[in-house]
Amino acid sequence: MLSIRTTARALLVLALLGFAAGSAAAFPVDPGNIRPPVPKPKPKGQIVFPVLGTVEFSDDYGAPRPQGPHEGIDILAPRHALALAAEPGRVRFYTGSGRAGCMLYLDGKSGTTYYYIHLNNDLTNGNDNRGGCRLGVTFPKGLKSGARVSAGQPIGYVGDSGDANGVHPHLHFEVHPHGGRSTNPYPRLLAARRMLFYVPPGTTFTLSMTATVVSTSSESLRVRVNTLHSLPGNMVLRRLDRPLVLAVPSYASIERGVVGNAVQLSDAKRGERVSVWTEAATVTAAASEGRAGAISAERIVLPAA
Ligand SMILES: [Zn+2]
Repeated sequence: MLSIRTTARALLVLALLGFAAGSAAAFPVDPGNIRPPVPKPKPKGQIVFPVLGTVEFSDDYGAPRPQGPHEGIDILAPRHALALAAEPGRVRFYTGSGRAGCMLYLDGKSGTTYYYIHLNNDLTNGNDNRGGCRLGVTFPKGLKSGARVSAGQPIGYVGDSGDANGVHPHLHFEVHPHGGRSTNPYPRLLAARRMLFYVPPGTTFTLSMTATVVSTSSESLRVRVNTLHSLPGNMVLRRLDRPLVLAVPSYASIERGVVGNAVQLSDAKRGERVSVWTEAATVTAAASEGRAGAISAERIVLPAA
């Protein structure tokens, strides 16, 4: 009895192995595509990227500077870009430093303190230095020093205050575990969660975007987003070049050309520039991070043939 069972098990194992080998040869399917999607656990210590929209940065931590080694990473961004809370915590405004200019500390729940330096002090899109370090200029209106903030919440505007005056607007971002000495933020910035857009929690949002088609399936459109306009808040983010997978429900309108001839989603060709309007929906973490399928398209307009 035992030997029969063992033999049966051995045969079963062989059959499974044979099946696996045969299927691998016959159907070159990425096994990742046929398993149900499993939400990825958040890597430990993952932060929200501290600037919304297009940025440039390199590993300039420790670079020689007149006052000593560089204690943070300079994240270049458009003037007035939103600085976001890297993790939940409390903010402390600090506006008494000539070198740092308008800055704040974020005392994170994890015990890490983050420094946001050279925040905006300009009233216009030029470098006018007329704004001071104030609400509506440096920090979002309604935010108070000492306030609790959630991860990804806007806490400041990128600028060039302090000794960055006249330099390309950037956020000088420092990471101080347990409030101690600085550590290199670069690896955490590379691994950070990048927000796609910001609207206040609980609001109904819509997005419009211009994008480049990467691929389509029966129910989704994969693009690279170029310009993104979000409502409410009327915010425009340009030159994003960010991948996004939009859900496309069966009732979505798909048109080609100015006349708006109805077409199939499969008519979208790789490399075509499309305009997309999304379905109004209550904002979720998945949507604001632009996770695959978390945002639904309502109308897609392809270029004239
Ligand atoms: Zn710097």
